[in-house]
Amino acid sequence: MEENQKTPTHRPEPDVANSIPPQYDCGCLFSGSDNALYERHLLFDNVLASSEIGNRERYEAVAHSVRDILSQRWEKTEEIYDRENPKLIGYLSMEFLIGRSLSNNIVNLGLDRLARRFFHEHQLDELALLSEEPDAGLGNGGLGRLAACFLESMATMQLPGMGYGLRYEYGMFKQSIVDGWQREQPDNWLRRPDPWEVARPHLAVPVELGCSFEVREGSLRAIAGVPSSLLGIPYDRPVVGYGGKNINTLRLWASATPHVFDFQEFSAGDFVGALAERLTAETVTRVLYPDDSTSMGQGLRFVQEYFLVACSLADLVRRFQKNNSSWDDLPEKVAIQLNDTHPSLAVAELMRILLDVAKLDWERSWDITKRTLAYTNHTLLPEALEKWPLRWFELMLPRHLQIILEIDRRLGEEVQTRWPGDNGRIERIAIVEQGSHLVRMAHLAIAGSHSTNGVAEIHSNLLRNVTVSDLAELYPDRFNNKTNGVTPRRWLLLSNPGLAECISEAIGDRWKTDATDLKHLKSLADDSGFTSAVQTAKRRAKVRFADWLKAQAGIQVDPDTIFDSQVKRIHEYKRQFLNGLRIVALYHRLRQNPDLDTPPRTFFFAGKAAPAYHAAKLIIKFLNNLAATIDGDPLVRGRLRVVFLPDYCVSLAEQLIPASDVSNQISTAGYEASGTSNMKFMMNGALTIGTRDGATIEMAEAAGEENFFLFGLTADQVAKSRGWYSPGWHYEHEAEIRAVLDMIFSGEFSRNEPAVTDAMRNILLLGGDTYMHLADFTSYMEADSRLQSLYREPEAWHRKAILNIAASGRFSSDRTIGEYARDIWEVRPCPVPSN
Ligand SMILES: *Cc1c(COP(=O)(O)O)cnc(C)c1O
Repeated sequence: MEENQKTPTHRPEPDVANSIPPQYDCGCLFSGSDNALYERHLLFDNVLASSEIGNRERYEAVAHSVRDILSQRWEKTEEIYDRENPKLIGYLSMEFLIGRSLSNNIVNLGLDRLARRFFHEHQLDELALLSEEPDAGLGNGGLGRLAACFLESMATMQLPGMGYGLRYEYGMFKQSIVDGWQREQPDNWLRRPDPWEVARPHLAVPVELGCSFEVREGSLRAIAGVPSSLLGIPYDRPVVGYGGKNINTLRLWASATPHVFDFQEFSAGDFVGALAERLTAETVTRVLYPDDSTSMGQGLRFVQEYFLVACSLADLVRRFQKNNSSWDDLPEKVAIQLNDTHPSLAVAELMRILLDVAKLDWERSWDITKRTLAYTNHTLLPEALEKWPLRWFELMLPRHLQIILEIDRRLGEEVQTRWPGDNGRIERIAIVEQGSHLVRMAHLAIAGSHSTNGVAEIHSNLLRNVTVSDLAELYPDRFNNKTNGVTPRRWLLLSNPGLAECISEAIGDRWKTDATDLKHLKSLADDSGFTSAVQTAKRRAKVRFADWLKAQAGIQVDPDTIFDSQVKRIHEYKRQFLNGLRIVALYHRLRQNPDLDTPPRTFFFAGKAAPAYHAAKLIIKFLNNLAATIDGDPLVRGRLRVVFLPDYCVSLAEQLIPASDVSNQISTAGYEASGTSNMKFMMNGALTIGTRDGATIEMAEAAGEENFFLFGLTADQVAKSRGWYSPGWHYEHEAEIRAVLDMIFSGEFSRNEPAVTDAMRNILLLGGDTYMHLADFTSYMEADSRLQSLYREPEAWHRKAILNIAASGRFSSDRTIGEYARDIWEVRPCPVPSN
């Protein structure tokens, strides 16, 4: 097959030396001589006989060579920031879903052509070598991936920004599917040394706690009244901006005990005791909590959150004090962004530093704290809003508790002054919830910062008008919106080189750093030459994905079918069940009428369920059962196919999204804060079938609703029909819903597994259908029919695809970061000059 060939390089090889950013001298990597970086690393780093060298060693040697090339620039960035003393952004996040770094760093350093030639000359299998790098999966999903996109945009825009997170020894669990069910395995991503991290033990930070801990029977227990301390060791990772000009830092903290060897205890003979304590301390950053949109309220998580805050603030304050003398300048020199409430203890910690260390009075401390901190809300789901027991503060952070109670007291006074006697309002606004003795972390974050933003227009409005309306009324000026974005470097340039090249040939390559330039594609939507180029690029991406899937998992899919994807965390509100119902309906139609003329389709699902979230695990089981049943039915062979791809991660997203024709964004309206995979699909020319939720609303507005397949209840309609909504009504009155549900309930997809069908009946029918699957089913099917008809007209389909790409520029994280920089942080670029 012609499409099966590797993407040819259309253009003549450019003068290689001219394509490297001038500030780099990297001929040495590729010279092939004996002392080239790569050869040296390969030979000396592992002390292995050449016969024992495999792809892993080759990957490490290339990664170390690339790191050598960027290291001077990385140091220089630090040096310039130190000298120029610009305002610095500290982006605090419990999650950074980084994915792989080697290919990204090669592209952002402008080394891709050289690297390709190098791989060719050394007869290295590029793909095999790149996939030796484990995904850095230090996040659950969208929130962590957003943090990673943001760091990349800051570096590209030459903004002095520093990411702060935790160096989890075990990241997001590995998912496998056994008998249709999800299995979790630990993700030991640091089993082999990571070439991208640099430990900086000389910058270690002590963290004091009001109690001690022991690990007993696998869980962390507090020992009251015995203060203890931990040590935060920073591990730095380079964040390479596109063009390789500024290289910022992601600093991840690992926990340890301050006294690695306690000689006192040694001399007393307690050798084991001394080492056992070390074990406890390291437990703190052992593992990432795999709960998305849920707060499990576990003690270790609380310690993790404080540990991140204490280490990061100490580090930011140390940097500040190096070049500044007055504490009053802190808000002019540091902007701290809290990615969700997870790091919101920063409010109390910064107050503690200003009151107890800097010895400022309350008013001054409070003013500085608020002007330095800003908070991003990510979800309205009540189960995700963090609340911590007062008791834990008493135990672990007694001084912080005093401060929080004083903040709360003053907040109450403020409300009392403005709305005298309105005790209900005081209660609703209070940081410490009456009765439950829980500390509402979102309230602390809002009260203690100057900015609270949601992540899409609809979400920011709901946050302000519903979720925390009382606080919004008290502090209207603090509330604002920053619609999310994704970096076009990773999500288009790197993951879809064929389409990227096709775009650059049409409009030049300014879009890579100014995605609004993509708008110039609009006038090419009717250009048959360009349309067919885009069509060819999509077809190649599909073939490439099919080949990859065959090689990876032995699964064969047909690129001549519609690739229809829903990839994201598995959650009831994201409604993978609804998608499943659609597929059952299409299957049912074919069974009723085998001659039905419908375009052949492949449905892809991928996503992980929180290990304790039973309904989400049931969704996975159902989808796998559905896939197996349809696979086993010769009647629909070649016409319908369902594939559940295990272990969703950034690398899988990079493979699947460019190959997708259809993007499913079908959450119950009002529940998806923004979504970001919706944007990745749009940039890659997939058409969206979706509800009016999150950023999808703004995407459709940008591209024109006629270029989207929107359906279903609006957030307003969802809220208004809550009271009387009855799934039973739909079951009784809508024939196709009844047919679909009866088919499922009959055990057609889960023979001998009555528990599965019973649970589904409970969720979708008897239990009230909280996420209103049945309310939106019929309009989903209608939108799907419109989509099928359009697919029969390739010209019209690709025209819409181009109009989508052309309108996707607004959803670059560069735009988002530009808005944060201007409206919240008030920071300016600090360019690192060329040599
Ligand atoms: C983009 C991304 C997400 C977020 O997906 P949503 O559909 O916005 O929830 C989650 N996981 C990975 C690996 C991603 O790349």
